[in-house]
Amino acid sequence: MLEIKNLHVKLEDEDKQILKGVDLTVEAGKVHAIMGPNGSGKSTLSYVLSGRDGYEVTEGEATLDGEDILEMEPEARAAAGLFLAFQYPVEIPGVGNMTFLRTALNAQRKARGEDEISAGDFLKLVREKAKTLKIDADMLKRPVNVGFSGGEKKRNEILQMAMLEPSMCILDETDSGLDVDAMKLVSEGVNALRDEGRAFLVITHYQRLLDHIKPDVVHIMADGRIVKTGGPELALEVENNGYADILGEVA
Ligand code: ADP
Ligand code: MG
Ligand code: MG
Repeated sequence: MLEIKNLHVKLEDEDKQILKGVDLTVEAGKVHAIMGPNGSGKSTLSYVLSGRDGYEVTEGEATLDGEDILEMEPEARAAAGLFLAFQYPVEIPGVGNMTFLRTALNAQRKARGEDEISAGDFLKLVREKAKTLKIDADMLKRPVNVGFSGGEKKRNEILQMAMLEPSMCILDETDSGLDVDAMKLVSEGVNALRDEGRAFLVITHYQRLLDHIKPDVVHIMADGRIVKTGGPELALEVENNGYADILGEVA
């Protein structure tokens, strides 16, 4: 589904290379986790895949279902099925959460040549999905993420994901700042979306999220590259011994 080959990325305005040859293949139906020390380039990878400004791809490629996504506008990437849940979800003052969700859903439908969702069907869908994430009516009416707690913002990201049903879901430290209960809700939301046609890339610092969202494959990223790949046991190794052992071994 997602295939990244030899991806090199630098900052657009600065002579700073961040990704130095990332190779990664995520198959449909699988959950891949990326762990790694702070500053290793995990968020940069997710930003570049989603099309954020400020980065320049200097070498390599990234395809989604065989299509080159790096050449697409962010909206086209979303329509192609890519979704990024941000490490720091943005607040959008003045735009109601429901309006935002409906607009995003209809934009996606339009890009796919489908009709807009009716007001009634939308309401039914959003209420059903919100309920499972314990997002109440008040949160749905408020401006997107404005005044939401850290946990509420992350749950709201998962609500967006549940509404849009993307095929390739990237979660960047969705667990950071969550208490145990919120992490369970977020994990349950993700697990409910697991499907043979959908893939996940879960970026996390901590093993504990991976107790709830069981990954098929775990990658360690360091200094702009994937330096080690293994099964879930790799996450436990990190939890027990930190990154030093693995990085020493790789070096
Ligand atoms: P991670 O998510 O693994 O913690 P990041 O992708 O956020 O790592 O960052 C990788 C490196 O790139 C860090 O050294 C970070 O400071 C730098 N970096 C990323 N984006 C920017 C930016 N827009 N301006 C300056 N430095 C950046
Ligand atoms: Mg970081
Ligand atoms: Mg990060």
